[in-house]
Amino acid sequence: MSATKSYRIASIPGDGIGPEVVSATIQVVEKLAKTLGTFDIEFDHIPWGTAYYKETGKYVSEDCLDTLRKYDAGLFGAVGAPDVPDHISLWGLLLALRGPLQLYANVRPVKTFPGTKCPLNTATKGIDWMLVRENSEGEYAGQGGRSHVGQPWEAATEVAIFTRHAIERIMRFAFETAQSRPRKLLTVVTKSNSMRNGLVLWDEIAASVAKDFPDVTWDKMLVDAMTVRMVGKPDSIDTIVGTNLHMDILSDLAAALAGSIGVAPSSNLDPTRKNPSLFEPVHGSAFDITGKGVANPVATFWSAAEMLIWLGEKDAAAKLMSCVENVCSAGILTPDLGGTSNTQGVVDAVCAEIEKLI
Ligand code: ATP
Ligand code: MG
Repeated sequence: MSATKSYRIASIPGDGIGPEVVSATIQVVEKLAKTLGTFDIEFDHIPWGTAYYKETGKYVSEDCLDTLRKYDAGLFGAVGAPDVPDHISLWGLLLALRGPLQLYANVRPVKTFPGTKCPLNTATKGIDWMLVRENSEGEYAGQGGRSHVGQPWEAATEVAIFTRHAIERIMRFAFETAQSRPRKLLTVVTKSNSMRNGLVLWDEIAASVAKDFPDVTWDKMLVDAMTVRMVGKPDSIDTIVGTNLHMDILSDLAAALAGSIGVAPSSNLDPTRKNPSLFEPVHGSAFDITGKGVANPVATFWSAAEMLIWLGEKDAAAKLMSCVENVCSAGILTPDLGGTSNTQGVVDAVCAEIEKLI
């Protein structure tokens, strides 16, 4: 079959194990495209990250938005280094892109994977959730400041901003996501008992958007109670939506409950499709294992599969994930999952599975 579609992807490996897992993923996706022959894909390397910052004083180039807009999507590794404060690296790269590109929906599928062990008591020996995080404002709006620095009476404010526009669009996206899944179940997480402005607005908007989705069963839950429910009644959950801060925390909890952070993927989407969306593993730069060749590439493989789905290559994405699952089921795992393989060993095994597709 001749190639029909052609995609250009910005590859932003970043720091720590980012380059290791991104290069592993490019090998696998290029192999998939070549083997299936149903689409072409090309990755361009973009060197943003801490090394770039140390050279230029900035984490990204001046024209970073124009640069990215030339691509169909971005595949990102990780950002952060031991000798740069995390808030500088995070705001310098990821948060600098998410806002202007309006990547307002952060989507994280959480599923127990072959080779990982869910520590919970569940009917299906694992969990299968979809987490939707508001990614453009809220507690991470970056508003606030410090006064009387260094004085005993120093004060700092961190102002959370919640707008009707941003809540409505993420709520609609979350209801659509829940509607597209078999169980059609959504939990809206807030903390509207103690945060009496912004999160009461969340509750109000949830109730009003819900009217457009009569086939979706939904409930709302305070974030503290939700942590208890995730551990105690995992089978009662399917799709979850919440604020930037709440879902940041719940998604790490969810990844740990699913079995491992080394397999958790994430998508930063512009659902209007005016801008390229960015796909990245949930884990960070993990300097403790950087350079040892043992980083688990599965989270980035899965992120690339989510990217292929977003680009319209659902079939290729499903094939990629079935190859990855076969490899994990066969026990070819990196040390974080109790295996003895290294990163390249997993790549080679997945490529061998891909070869069997034809
Ligand atoms: P960040 O500050 O960006 O969150 P981090 O260095 O704290 O980055 P995390 O991603 O939070 O790293 O991961 C915590 C630990 O989990 C790492 O130090 C590492 O030991 C392990 N880990 C994370 N990702 C992977 C991976 N892909 N493969 C193997 N181990 C991993
Ligand atoms: Mg961390």
